This record gives sequence, structure tokens and C-alpha cells, in this order.
Amino acid sequence: MKACEPLRLSRSLLEALSREASASKHEVVGFLLGVGCRALVAFPMENVASSSVEFLANPLDVVAAHNLAEALGLELIALYHSHPFGPAAPSPKDVEGMKWWPMTWLIVSAQGARAWRLAEGKAAEVPIELVA
Ligand code: ZN
Repeated sequence: MKACEPLRLSRSLLEALSREASASKHEVVGFLLGVGCRALVAFPMENVASSSVEFLANPLDVVAAHNLAEALGLELIALYHSHPFGPAAPSPKDVEGMKWWPMTWLIVSAQGARAWRLAEGKAAEVPIELVA
């Protein structure tokens, strides 16, 4: 697993993630599958924490995401989740989670989306590049 920088995705994929996030009062979570650092498709996962301030991805969904990526010849290039009531900045728990999943993290909030990666134990912002 590597952190993608910049994270590249289409405006329509970003809008789809925003719609998914705004439709739920709980945090939504999923992987972005793609090639290189270009996200092509979202794989939503169940948040078994059913919480508006944290997520816990269903482990079966994590396995399914890996299997689908392998079957399609894609890579898991980013983890996304939402902050329904907060800014698109990582919580202390998110920073801990980045150590387990050292990939780019996309956080979707009502104010917009921002991407992050772990750098020397801290969250560093990653540019999002909108592509056609
Ligand atoms: Zn978070």
C-alpha cells in the first residue's frame, strides 16, 4: 500500500461520494479503486460502528474490496469516509487509522472533500486533482 499524491479522480466520482455522504447521518466509508493514483470506482463498505463520529469498516467488505480490485486488475488507492458534522480534517482516531491503512485518505464533509496521508506520524494534506 502506498499513499497517492496527488489523488486523481473525476468530478462526477467526487460528486457521487458527496451524495453518498450527505444521504447518511452516520459516517460512510469505502475504498477507491483505480490505476496508478487515478480513482475510477468507489467501493462502499458497511460502517459497523453506525456512528456519526467514527467508522469501523465491516471486515467482510474489506476482503470483498480486495477481491474485486484483484478481479478487475485495479488497486486500492484510497480510503474514503465522511464527517457528517465536522470539517474534512482527520480526527486523532483517523491519524491512528492511517498507521494501519497507510494509503491516501479522502474525507468528505458538507464543506467539501480533502485528502490526507501520514507523514512522520502526522496527517499531511494531499492535493486532489480533478480529471476528466
Ligand atoms: Zn474521520
